[in-house]
Amino acid sequence: MTLDILIKNVALWGTDGIRDVGIADGRFVSIGQSDASLNATLTLDAEGRMAVPGFVEPHIHLDKALISERAAVNISGTLTEAIEILWEIKRNYTVDEIADRASRVLAQALANGISRLRTHVDIDPIGGTRPAEGLIRARDRFRDLMDIQIVAFPQEGIVQSPGTEALMRQVMKLGVDVVGGMPFNEKSPQDSRRHIEIAFEIAREFDADIDMHVDETDDPMARTLEVLAELTIKNGWQGRVTAGHTCALASYPRNYADHVIERLREANINMIANPATNLMLQGRLDDYPKRRGVTQVKELLAAGVNVACGQDCVHDTFYPFGQNDPLEIAFLLCHASQMSQPPEILTVMDMVTNNGARALRVPDFRVAIGNIADLVVLDARDPREAFATRMPRRWVIRKGKLIAETKLETHRYFNLSSAPAT
Ligand SMILES: [Zn+2]
Repeated sequence: MTLDILIKNVALWGTDGIRDVGIADGRFVSIGQSDASLNATLTLDAEGRMAVPGFVEPHIHLDKALISERAAVNISGTLTEAIEILWEIKRNYTVDEIADRASRVLAQALANGISRLRTHVDIDPIGGTRPAEGLIRARDRFRDLMDIQIVAFPQEGIVQSPGTEALMRQVMKLGVDVVGGMPFNEKSPQDSRRHIEIAFEIAREFDADIDMHVDETDDPMARTLEVLAELTIKNGWQGRVTAGHTCALASYPRNYADHVIERLREANINMIANPATNLMLQGRLDDYPKRRGVTQVKELLAAGVNVACGQDCVHDTFYPFGQNDPLEIAFLLCHASQMSQPPEILTVMDMVTNNGARALRVPDFRVAIGNIADLVVLDARDPREAFATRMPRRWVIRKGKLIAETKLETHRYFNLSSAPAT
């Protein structure tokens, strides 16, 4: 048979040894030693490099990405000011420019090997449905290249922001996939609980998953994460709920943190760490010792909770950097969560691949015969090297087609032992 693509000598993430992988008609058709009778239209020699079935970006904000090209500077460096600067810009949003900014980010994400992505989109009376319409248009443009889920994100609150609840239902009807939330941004604990209850009411109406920004604050008295776990169980939504940021968990006393983590495990809630934005914004008003706001990654993992990590912000009023590269976020997370031992580094590679796929409920996310042929060959032999060098992706294959290829001609691995003596 003639293959479309034969990738030789590749180390598949999660398996031992070096294999050849054959692709035809958009699917994996052979994994193992290729026999000489196999012809391929395109043969790529990975020379022992590692490959993953794509990266998963579980938490990004495409509607706000690149907005700092025309936004005021966030002088205080706080989450509050980042949100307030956006109000004037959101009043002047157009669907076209949102779609164009999102598309620029998606093109970069694609070259970095992201094959599945979940983006939040602001839903409030300031921007109305335009941000959602813009992201739905961007999703359509990338339909054949990336699986994109959109989350209706009521950043300004629901109870304290009249009209938002109706807008959330409206955008779900337009094609938004997931119900979002920001329950801490309400005026009282009762309103925060009501915010979460409304999210579940909408999720039940549309049979949708839930993905909330939870307790993105250093306040050790923030309690909405525990309420989310309680209502997840009450609604029978176990496995369908994701909580992002959860910075307050990093400020809780040990006994209460352990109690909440156990509730999260019972509710089978997926957790997303956002090390870039949270390291940048949290603890801004602290004296030393200064809190850094990254959620309790190791403790959640040890309890058996599914934890992934995401970019969150790209060049916006919250965060001035970001290049949609899961290797960069993984590298940051290793530092923020002090994951330096070899098994911990392997876990972080799972966080940007398999754990993210579980949170997004992606079926068949693995290299296996018969599965859709998605494969990203890294310019590294193992996760430690991948995080350390963060080299451009060698090849990105999506649905059996080579869609991105990068080779740095000047990159060399020098063998120092063979360097001439001086
Ligand atoms: Zn976020």
